[in-house]
Amino acid sequence: LNRRLAEFGTTIFAEMSALAVRTGSINLGQGFPDTDGPEEIREAAVRALRDGHGNQYPPGPGIPELRAAIADHQQRRYGLAHDPDTEVLVTAGATEAIAASLLALLEPGDEVIAFEPFYDSYAACIAMAGGRRVPLTLRAPDFRPDLDALRDAITPRTRLLLLNSPHNPTGMVLTREELTTIAELAVEHDLLVVTDEVYEHLVFEGEHIPLISLPGMRERTVSISSAGKTFSYTGWKVGWVTASAPLVAAVRTAKQYLTYVSAGPFQYAIAEALRLPDSYFDGFRADLRHKRDLLGDGLRAAGFSVYQPQGTYFITTDITPFGEKDAYAFCRALPERCGVVAVPNSVFYDDPDAGRSQVRFTFCKKEDVLREAAGRLRRLA
Ligand code: PMP
Ligand code: GLN
Repeated sequence: LNRRLAEFGTTIFAEMSALAVRTGSINLGQGFPDTDGPEEIREAAVRALRDGHGNQYPPGPGIPELRAAIADHQQRRYGLAHDPDTEVLVTAGATEAIAASLLALLEPGDEVIAFEPFYDSYAACIAMAGGRRVPLTLRAPDFRPDLDALRDAITPRTRLLLLNSPHNPTGMVLTREELTTIAELAVEHDLLVVTDEVYEHLVFEGEHIPLISLPGMRERTVSISSAGKTFSYTGWKVGWVTASAPLVAAVRTAKQYLTYVSAGPFQYAIAEALRLPDSYFDGFRADLRHKRDLLGDGLRAAGFSVYQPQGTYFITTDITPFGEKDAYAFCRALPERCGVVAVPNSVFYDDPDAGRSQVRFTFCKKEDVLREAAGRLRRLA
């Protein structure tokens, strides 16, 4: 393994999901639903496979039907106009979109500012692109970004801000005021911004505002989203980028040599999914809000300090009330203690103290699974 990647081993999600399988525990670690998304969308994928749609290399930027559906979604939901031919790119999940964006836009040595705790691929992709990550810590209990610290962190070497809202793992959702300040700083210092918005449809309080919709941001923002979260098909790995034509062209150049194209038949199905009526998106959000409250109550009853998330399908907790302070050790022992798996947030921070006692649970599971897990966690008391 080269020096750039030396600090990156097996991802925490693979490690904790393997632990769940090995111990037969309830897996509230890795964020994937235990119920598949809409049946008609699955049928659309089967139809595409059977009818030979996408079984051979699809077009590099994505099939036209999906690019048009993505552009229409941005228009219908946010009033954002994108040319489906030049301003939309289909990727192998948001993960490839993040990697291709950073590989395309960074010069070696460029500084990338990102709020920690960060989703684990950010640090690895910044490293692969030869960039230098500059973390700014989101602190409990609210995990609001410190925008004065952001201003102070910008140097002549800063090239890019890497943002994530709704934020995994804390559930923090950036407000319009915060986004406005971030946009002003980006314009003032001529920065690019890559925004990971994969949880755009999972906001329970407030609303999701795409940074690209703010003044001065249309030409400097790469917006990333994914079908995995919104339609509960995380295994299909359909993601996308929306941005100005020059930025999409840059990201497309990198994507060509990472995967060349993304898998075909699922693109047809997701093109249909994006055209589902608003009632689908509203129902999905309402279901997960209910599950958030169910698991949140269960975690509080079990004795955790709970940081209420405004979005995503994760709840961050603190284990200090149990007299413990090492989240990683706690998560490794949890299956044996009570048959539940969670993820330690500590691995998402560069600052070793910041998230040491934080543990993340996902609530994208069936209600009876969440109830059973909450009951098991009560044994910790
Ligand atoms: N970004 C964040 C914040 C995520 O939580 C995830 C989780 N899957 C991804 C990106 C990756 O998305 P995908 O599965 O579409 O690659
Ligand atoms: N995004 C999901 C999570 O944060 C899973 C991602 C993954 O397994 N790489 O749990």
